[in-house]
Amino acid sequence: MSTTITITGAGGQIGYALLFRIAAGDLLGLDEKVRLRLLEIPQGIGAAEGAALELQDGAFGLLEHVEVTDDAAVAFDGCDLALLVGARPRGPGMERGDLLAANGGIFGPQGAAIAANAAPDVRVTVVGNPANTNALIAAASADGVPVSRFTALTRLDENRARAQLAQTLAVPVDTVRRVPIWGNHSATQFPDVSHATVAGRPVHEALEAIVGDVPAWLDSTFIPRVAKRGAEIIEVRGSSSVASAANATLDHVRDWVHGTGDWTSAGVVSQGQYGVPEGLVCSFPVQSIDGEWQVVEGLEVSDWARQRIDASVAELVEERNAVKALGLL
Ligand code: NDP
Repeated sequence: MSTTITITGAGGQIGYALLFRIAAGDLLGLDEKVRLRLLEIPQGIGAAEGAALELQDGAFGLLEHVEVTDDAAVAFDGCDLALLVGARPRGPGMERGDLLAANGGIFGPQGAAIAANAAPDVRVTVVGNPANTNALIAAASADGVPVSRFTALTRLDENRARAQLAQTLAVPVDTVRRVPIWGNHSATQFPDVSHATVAGRPVHEALEAIVGDVPAWLDSTFIPRVAKRGAEIIEVRGSSSVASAANATLDHVRDWVHGTGDWTSAGVVSQGQYGVPEGLVCSFPVQSIDGEWQVVEGLEVSDWARQRIDASVAELVEERNAVKALGLL
């Protein structure tokens, strides 16, 4: 048996960072063979074909087959895992409505192609921005595929949040747990340390000893640093984050397929949990149990946290309204 994985925008930067790690077994482990389908728009086909040649030259024992195509029906045929990376970037002078319309034109047809061609239990992860609303559009266009099969990536935000806490506390990053992201993958996201622990002890206690006034530090330093980390990377590196985005994509899908020991974050379709309007693709604290994302329910949410969650959810509602007004939903 092998797993068929479709990567859209496979000729782009994140695609290039994903392909070789998937072929090396970093996604599904060293026992699972993979078949890769690389979807690109005609302008990107050359880059994807070049990556396919390099995959061949990698002589990866787990890689059964690679196909490059600009036809979504071919790309999603029998697809088990869909990584929707390709998206229309915001160009100079482009309004938000133009961006949503351009991406609706990509993610609507891809949702339909997934419904028509993919495996019945396909798992879809949207990376291309605006990821939450692109996932909403794809899910709405995929007749017959349960909406629980559509997710948006917020794992990079969570990884960034955990790494910032680990650095502040001078502890190994894997001792920092339970730092969910709520809301939209955007500057309004809320990285939440209310329930976080470090080596089993509340993070708040550990932070107090180092930063003093924890709420002030969260507001002035931690939350903006996490939310604006993408911009910081662009400033320092000269281009946007690539390998860390690919790494988080692998974390997300691996946990979805193999399960999580603890909470993590993912954009999933709301069923009304925590007062988030039903149907929005919103990031929540989640656990993957028996191959399904489940929102961690019953957490206490302070008024301070509530305000921040509500602000990000309000942005998701605005995006949904804009997309509806464009006739994309
Ligand atoms: P990247 O591979 O760098 O980025 C792809 C998408 O991922 C962008 O929408 C980007 O958003 C998003 N992204 C970047 N960082 C993160 C992050 N931290 N978390 C979540 N999402 C993130 O872009 P390239 O331009 O190098 O490649 C895009 C490719 O997609 C091109 O080759 C293009 O031809 C292709 N494409 C394919 C389509 C298709 O298959 N139908 C449709 C459209 C494009 P942001 O722009 O905000 O950084």
